[in-house]
Amino acid sequence: MGTPRESRTDQAAEVVDRLEEAYPDSTISLRYSNRLELLIAVILSAQCTDERVNTETEHLFETYDGPEDYATAPQDELAEELNSITYYNNKAKYIRSACQTIVEEHDGEVPDTMDELTDLSGVGRKTANVVLQHGHDVVEGIVVDTHVQRLSRRLGLTEEEYPEPIERELMELVPEGYWQQFTHLCIDHGRATCTARNPDCDDCVLADICPSEKGDSEIDLASGEPW
Ligand code: SF4
Repeated sequence: MGTPRESRTDQAAEVVDRLEEAYPDSTISLRYSNRLELLIAVILSAQCTDERVNTETEHLFETYDGPEDYATAPQDELAEELNSITYYNNKAKYIRSACQTIVEEHDGEVPDTMDELTDLSGVGRKTANVVLQHGHDVVEGIVVDTHVQRLSRRLGLTEEEYPEPIERELMELVPEGYWQQFTHLCIDHGRATCTARNPDCDDCVLADICPSEKGDSEIDLASGEPW
């Protein structure tokens, strides 16, 4: 078990410092070339890997161009385009409905406020945060995905279980200038080392400050269960 820094604020700062050094080029891995493509890619990425989404969007973005195309696409046809993605039927419905709203209420433009974005079908706070950050350069919060959720708990930054309360706590701890990057750093470390089932604590740059470190700690603080 590592020894966390004295306060959670110091712990968060140390985590950011070390992960920034380990992953200097950390950024979003979804591919898109405009705000609508970003929105669609993020909707598709729920419970699906970015790699899979990137494979599917390559042909999707060539076939459909602009919100009217998606809004008027037959449900079966759009779902068929997405059929290797988890929950593709529902996601096709969300995309069609969100694009109908974008056409009817936003002059065909992806909205730039949290309230308007979360009013779109299939768009929760996490998706809206990603679109605001990467599509509009507006950083209103911290994107809490499964990696951020797991690492924040393992590292003793929060004891909350669900994304929204975790986000609120992290916003108190992580300096505002790092809100966007914090997510990408956690995602990179979560994929490379601090994986869900078998984290490689022996080769982790955070081991000496991580209260879940497997060498000594018997408990994975992410789940609260023994390793
Ligand atoms: S890999 Fe192990 S030591 Fe590193 S952050 Fe994850 S649980 Fe902690």
